[in-house]
Amino acid sequence: MIIEVRKGHEQTVEHIKELAREVGVFVDIIHGRGISDTLHIIGDARPLFARQDYILELPGVVNCWRITCDYKNIARVVEGGNGNVVERERRTVCIPGPDGYVRKVGNAPHLFIVGPCTVQTREQVLSIARAARKIGEEFGIVDRIMLRGGAYKPRTRPTDFRGLGMDGIKLMDEAREETGLPYVSEVMDHNLVEELAQHVDMFQIGTRHAQDFDLLEAVGRSGKPVLLKRGFGNEAAEWFSAAEYVANQGNLNIVLCERGVKTLFAKEGYCRNTPDFNVIRYAREKTILPVIFDPSHAAGSDRIVCDNLLAAMAFQADGSITETIHEEAFRKHQLCDARQALLMDLYREVVEAMLKFEQLITPHLRTIDAYFASRK
Ligand code: PEP
Ligand code: MN
Repeated sequence: MIIEVRKGHEQTVEHIKELAREVGVFVDIIHGRGISDTLHIIGDARPLFARQDYILELPGVVNCWRITCDYKNIARVVEGGNGNVVERERRTVCIPGPDGYVRKVGNAPHLFIVGPCTVQTREQVLSIARAARKIGEEFGIVDRIMLRGGAYKPRTRPTDFRGLGMDGIKLMDEAREETGLPYVSEVMDHNLVEELAQHVDMFQIGTRHAQDFDLLEAVGRSGKPVLLKRGFGNEAAEWFSAAEYVANQGNLNIVLCERGVKTLFAKEGYCRNTPDFNVIRYAREKTILPVIFDPSHAAGSDRIVCDNLLAAMAFQADGSITETIHEEAFRKHQLCDARQALLMDLYREVVEAMLKFEQLITPHLRTIDAYFASRK
């Protein structure tokens, strides 16, 4: 549901927000460049739409219409049955760190998320976190670095190591405390969301849980930023609809993450999944959400991770989430995704390359994008 209100009618806007709250929905205000602002109702807007006649009579209300497009809470362009169309700005998702910097994804330079696949030892986690901080300081990008680390791990085989659980989360807490870098960690069980929300800075929903709708709603209710991986067999529209489950709870702090899809080529062994780089632009055009890329699960081998990262920059991903290892000697002890873990020294190298690449290509990509924007 969209409500257009002429600028300067603050009381009306406040009143509509109150009506929305009463029926359990939220208002996202899109400040227009013209004479009116657009109120986009997030959530199940039907009870509010039932009061359309009343709303239309409020001072300053120009129009009120129902949205007909799919995944309407996160859609970039929303359409009404009457032909009205509004293009929304892309969102910036903010993740504050205890060091006072706010990490921004979307409408901001590439965000670097880095850390182990799975938390195993204190030394492993702290070494990686310290090295990540050091890279941030060396290149003046501390505000663009954050950590990852899985404590609750989805495993294909039930006998494989499934993470340290709460002990792993506590190690991530410690890494954050020492380095000031916020972190993202996976949650698999909707019953754990409230407890984990006390710790993590951002929830990760993994590829296997990308269509666990109770879980998506639970992280939506938490209001925390959510990193939503694409289900490995999901069409783009299914992925966006999964994000819609989070958004429908009033939480638009969602970051989409492409991590490679299953193809028959993976059977040949040269990759674990096939990175669908093309979907990055599509997601950017179809949704208001930031889109990041996972070069590790899209590779399966550390040999391809750097190539993937540079490609992600070329495809204008808003960020990346990379699995790393602190020293080669640990590889034989690593219990999950050891083959694709990139040595931190190499990560430093590729970050430097990415930053140079970013400087070189950004002005040209702007020109190219402006051309296509004008051709619409
Ligand atoms: C992970 O990030 O470690 C992970 C399990 O990712 P995915 O859900 O994409 O396989
Ligand atoms: Mn992993």
